[in-house]
Amino acid sequence: MCAAGCRPAAPTPPNILLITLDTTRADHLGTYGDREARTPNLDRLASQGVVFEHAVAAAPITLPAHVSLFTGMYPFMHGVRNNGNFSLSDRLPTLATALRSAGYGTAAFVSAFVLDQRYGLARGFDEYDDRVSLERRGDRTIAAAADWLTAHAALGTPLFMWVHLYDAHDPYDPPPPFRELFPDRAYDGEIAFDDAMVGRLLDRFDALGLRRSTIIAVVGDHGESLAEHGEATHGMFVYESVLRVPMMVAWQGHLPPRRVPAVVRAIDLAPTLLDLASQPALPGAQGQSLAALARGGRIGPESAYGETYFPLFYMNWAPLRSIQDGRWKFIDAPAPELYDLSIDPGEQMNLAPLEPARVAALRRALDQLTGGRAGVMSRRPIERDTAQKLAALGYIGAAESGVARTPDSGWRDPKDMIGVFNQIRRANAAVEQRRPAEGERIARGALARDPDNAFATIVLANAEMEQGRYRDAIATYRRYAELVPLSADAHHRIAVCFSRLGDVDRAVAEEDAALAIDPRDAEAHELRGGLLAGRGRLDEAVRELRTAIEIEPVNALFRIGLARALITAGRLDEAEAEVRRALELHPASADAHAASAAVAAGRNRFAAAAAEYEQALRLRPDYDDVRFDFARTLERLGRREEAAAEYRRLASNAATPPEIRNAARQRLR
Ligand SMILES: [Zn+2]
Repeated sequence: MCAAGCRPAAPTPPNILLITLDTTRADHLGTYGDREARTPNLDRLASQGVVFEHAVAAAPITLPAHVSLFTGMYPFMHGVRNNGNFSLSDRLPTLATALRSAGYGTAAFVSAFVLDQRYGLARGFDEYDDRVSLERRGDRTIAAAADWLTAHAALGTPLFMWVHLYDAHDPYDPPPPFRELFPDRAYDGEIAFDDAMVGRLLDRFDALGLRRSTIIAVVGDHGESLAEHGEATHGMFVYESVLRVPMMVAWQGHLPPRRVPAVVRAIDLAPTLLDLASQPALPGAQGQSLAALARGGRIGPESAYGETYFPLFYMNWAPLRSIQDGRWKFIDAPAPELYDLSIDPGEQMNLAPLEPARVAALRRALDQLTGGRAGVMSRRPIERDTAQKLAALGYIGAAESGVARTPDSGWRDPKDMIGVFNQIRRANAAVEQRRPAEGERIARGALARDPDNAFATIVLANAEMEQGRYRDAIATYRRYAELVPLSADAHHRIAVCFSRLGDVDRAVAEEDAALAIDPRDAEAHELRGGLLAGRGRLDEAVRELRTAIEIEPVNALFRIGLARALITAGRLDEAEAEVRRALELHPASADAHAASAAVAAGRNRFAAAAAEYEQALRLRPDYDDVRFDFARTLERLGRREEAAAEYRRLASNAATPPEIRNAARQRLR
């Protein structure tokens, strides 16, 4: 109760919950008309809030799309044009930095490595939970977010939470019961799972009594092609299948339910949330507040822009940019496209040849918006482990290390080349799944249609290497290095081929070339160290191997390689320390146990060595060189019968390498 004369406290600003649904098409939610969808929680939220029926993402790629959501800027302005090799400049304000300076407690919970804090979105968050190796399922992300909410709800400061769910991204593999509920539509099963997760988080808001004091926004970062226009997933095109996203804002008791048919943009969401929360506008934002529109106003944005530089960065094909006014949509491609979305929402009838004046007007609008330039490119170097992680998430090849030249004949048009792109994806998958001959055949087919394609080239080289055709692979990697001159990886792979051919000098020279391009290439240091150790240049070798470990301290195999070199150099104490660390990292590593045995044998502690060898062989019975060393150790212990049994096993096994088989036969005489 307020005593007479006291003044009402300033109203506490509302909490803000922002949920981004990765790879979620608007038209696969119930509230956007999909009758087969099972999205009761999102549908209920939509019925209580404002639904933007035609919201357009800025890019069909996770990181650029999210940076646009947070800065209210188009990618040509904030400069993040791709995943992995771009990051947000720390000079640009974001929704999170604005809310934190307004006194909000802030936390983010992301579900995929592509949104790791290294890419610049963590600024402004008190807590940025990116404890994700590649991706994490929505239930774990939601659990972390709900815990944080419970811990912070009672503190009295307004809260801003961002929760990112990645489940709808391919591969589609929904957990039960959604797998069973959607036997033929796994993508929709993933969306249904995410809907259930959203419901779980909203329940927590309800349980804490926060619903009326919280603005809840849900938005897709981009959609998914699902084979429309020949594209399986997203990235290559800017059609509505990937640009049209669900977008809704609910604030119980403050924002009456409404459906807004006007075209709006994902970049409008942050300005809208700040406006609704009575906060100052975001400096530099190109988006505008939709608060008036949400309250029944009529004036929305004039146009919506979308872009993808994915075709350029990955394939050296033309980037695509689109502009639309809600009805007419223009795509600036080598063969320009114009669609009347009012009668052709699937963008099947290209009207550009019939409507040159409209094309010219939209092209002018596009040039006016972008200044006729590509815009800001906020690049960052790409680490090898990043490249590997991105590749594991399906971002094949993980982008260029320096775009090749513009071809004399101009860029190729992605819509003519999507078949080649699909071929390269298939070829890459075949090589990854140990079907290199098939991968080679498909990659050659792609190269016949696009001879300078760097990705098809490296996939072909990998396929040749996997088949043991090292000389062919070297020639193909050299071709790749011509196309992508800044690729340290190309030289490293050539070095691997030379080392398998036994040509140590050339292998070392290629690692020198790799390290000249990228001095932090751990695998290049590691192989170079191994090669030098084989040459007896042990001090240099140890230095190289230590550099590799310094770059990748948690790589157990690097430590085992170093331990091996140290054993050869007679530096057993140091070797033992490396083995111990390797075993801590990987207690079930046969290589680590074998190295541990070698250290013990070096100290003439043969009983301990035999026990470690046995442990290694239990883990990897196919390690014939380890078995041979084990048998030698048994001999030294006087356990001749057991030693003979091991030698016989090696001598009689056709799979044993001939040199080990012969050595075993020698010992049996
Ligand atoms: Zn995404």
